[in-house]
Amino acid sequence: MKAVKRIALVAHDERKKDLLAWVQHHADTLVRHTLYATGTTGKVIEAHCDLAIHRLKSGPLGGDQQLGAMIANEELDVLIFFWDPMTAQPHDVDVKALLRMSVLYDVAVACNRATADFLISSALFQTHYEPVRKDFSALIK
Ligand code: PGA
Repeated sequence: MKAVKRIALVAHDERKKDLLAWVQHHADTLVRHTLYATGTTGKVIEAHCDLAIHRLKSGPLGGDQQLGAMIANEELDVLIFFWDPMTAQPHDVDVKALLRMSVLYDVAVACNRATADFLISSALFQTHYEPVRKDFSALIK
């Protein structure tokens, strides 16, 4: 994992303001990295921040799955995912799949503000980092 991290930003509708506040707070750091976002989250961030974002499809239309594919292809280092603990989502299976892929590939994941703050404040955020990935391939028959 290089010093310039590939970071995905995702928030469910009730959490978009919270994620935007976090992005604005850390914009000086985030500008030095490569940013991706699901469609509507990216639109909100672009409207309020001077940050370049690679926008994927909206989450319910496949954006979460696109991020999952990026993780499987080892194209993503960090996932900031403010999911909504209070509202049922039509694409709940995609949300679960995205979180599963993150664990499988040892992607750094934050699902709330405190964890996101700790993650971005880590010295490892600015340096090369070699994940110690568990090799699950032996379990595949
Ligand atoms: P959105 O998707 O950014 O397009 O709203 C978020 C999600 O639900 O994954």
